[in-house]
Amino acid sequence: MVDRLVNSEANARRITMVESCFGSSGQPIGIPGRVLVGEGVLTKMCRKKPKARQFFLFNDILVYGNILINKKKYNKQHIIPLEQVKLESLEDDGQFRNGWLIRTATKSFAVYAATSTEKQEWMAHINKCIEDLLRKSGKKAVEVHAAVWVPDSEASVCMHCKKSQFTVLNRRHHCRKCGAVVCGPCSSKRFLLPSQSSKPLRVCLNCYDTLSRTRAQNNVSSISDNSFGKDQRERNASGESSGEEDSDEDDEANKSASETAPDQPKFYGLSDAAEEKP
Ligand SMILES: [Zn+2]
Ligand SMILES: [Zn+2]
Repeated sequence: MVDRLVNSEANARRITMVESCFGSSGQPIGIPGRVLVGEGVLTKMCRKKPKARQFFLFNDILVYGNILINKKKYNKQHIIPLEQVKLESLEDDGQFRNGWLIRTATKSFAVYAATSTEKQEWMAHINKCIEDLLRKSGKKAVEVHAAVWVPDSEASVCMHCKKSQFTVLNRRHHCRKCGAVVCGPCSSKRFLLPSQSSKPLRVCLNCYDTLSRTRAQNNVSSISDNSFGKDQRERNASGESSGEEDSDEDDEANKSASETAPDQPKFYGLSDAAEEKP
């Protein structure tokens, strides 16, 4: 289905439209062989709270951004190569329904569709694209994925020591290994997680112990960790947030957009094939 869209005029038109909606805030998306498979609004679990995001599924990448004006203007574009993606269905949980995880080596997060049918459609289309891609490239699916971060609102105290209460001054940090929300002292260690970064990253004391033990067993030299010290104090002094900003966190600019009921997602393969029948 996707293959017959590759050189279609409709596909070229849609991709130009996506590019123009992101304007100068986005990257060029139209490359030969790329097909827009579907698009729609999903609710993305961000660090602070769930937010409406516009998603575009291409045959090789997943693109999403903040909605400034519904169907017209988006910004904060993120591009995820599908080769690295693994989906994981989530059970419905209270107000969080029809969700699944989008996991990659560097970043993992939950998204929610409006209905279970839309969830099935999205997951099926994304999985199909991943399968086709891996089959064509002969590559293997990525096995190591970044932890899904526990939202700030779910932890009023440190999940490690269970004592430290978070305030404006006592800030939340996220363990890059398990995603837990922890206090500064409980995440004072760094560990090299090569799938996420070439620099050692903040981990909680639990994960630090586990990772260190594994490393000791594997007999790998210990050059990677870097405990709390001058380096960290300097970074704190310079006002660096703990590096845990989800760069698509916004400024409430899309408030009006997210309040209007999102349309159903559109997937192009089927309707186009029908149109093209003689
Ligand atoms: Zn703590
Ligand atoms: Zn951890």
